[in-house]
Amino acid sequence: MNDILVETRNLTKDFKVKGKKYIRAVDNVSIKIGRKENLVLVGESGCGKSTLGRLTLGLIKPTSGQILFEGKDIWKMSKSEFKNFRINAQIIHQDPYSTFNPVRTIYQSLSAPLLYHKVVKNRKEAYKKVGELFRLVGLVPVEDFYDRYPSRMSGGQLQRAAIARAISLNPKYIVADEAVSMLDASLRLGIVDLLLDLQKKFKISYLFITHDLAIARYFVLKGGGGGMAVMYLGSIVEIGLGDDIVSKPYHPYTHVLITTTPIPDPELARKRPLPKLRSLEVPRLTEVPSGCKFHTRCPYAEKICEEKVPELREVNGRLIACHFAENFVKGF
Ligand code: SF4
Repeated sequence: MNDILVETRNLTKDFKVKGKKYIRAVDNVSIKIGRKENLVLVGESGCGKSTLGRLTLGLIKPTSGQILFEGKDIWKMSKSEFKNFRINAQIIHQDPYSTFNPVRTIYQSLSAPLLYHKVVKNRKEAYKKVGELFRLVGLVPVEDFYDRYPSRMSGGQLQRAAIARAISLNPKYIVADEAVSMLDASLRLGIVDLLLDLQKKFKISYLFITHDLAIARYFVLKGGGGGMAVMYLGSIVEIGLGDDIVSKPYHPYTHVLITTTPIPDPELARKRPLPKLRSLEVPRLTEVPSGCKFHTRCPYAEKICEEKVPELREVNGRLIACHFAENFVKGF
């Protein structure tokens, strides 16, 4: 990766919970996203993926560690540099129904940031630009959408409008946070296709966050590659090229995620050997296990796994946090 757009270095985020307890939502995470490249971030719900995404956008402050955008620490930027960074770093939220102000038309919601950030000079230009955005995201015929209120649009249409808003300021980086998970299955692939199509047109980098391995796999294959990071209880356990990880995981947790992803062929699904987890229960973030956080569930855990935190280290061209990663390179 030559030209890095977004980088986190040893990023940690703690949240205070009831009493004097803290939970560590993001634990010492270092990732890199190249210019015009993607990183797919996968893991179970509640593992810290969204917090990591929000940290990279400067929406919340880290407890420790750094976030660099085009090589600059975002929390050391001047006011004007930070404003410029926020224009270049946008988000598409999971819930398209709560994305827009219900008492404003979609045109009003899309034109306001264009006028505020002076992307357009006046209302006439804003009207034209919003029409272009509608067309780009497939809200056609465009005349039908100017005066629509969010309550009169479907989830798929609203998510397209949310994508239009995210690209309206010509950002370099977009966090797509479970952007298709609330949509009907029939609409999901269309939205992923749209995101990838816009990436080609506008040279965007995505942090594509999902708990759904099938969608992650589709994003990687359709997007022609890119990176993938697997997260468990706030830590990254495996990072590498997405298609390599999907076809041959090295970390026991990634192996579980991939082998439990539903597949459409019932015959293949029946034949597929499922991993024998020691426990189906995901530990709470207030009671994170010692050593390797996955040891309470991992079928391959040994004594050292309870005692020593495995470092994220290079094994066979990938970064893996497992004491026995070399064994799994040969297969599970
Ligand atoms: Fe399993 Fe041990 Fe590897 Fe953790 S370090 S994934 S417990 S084998």
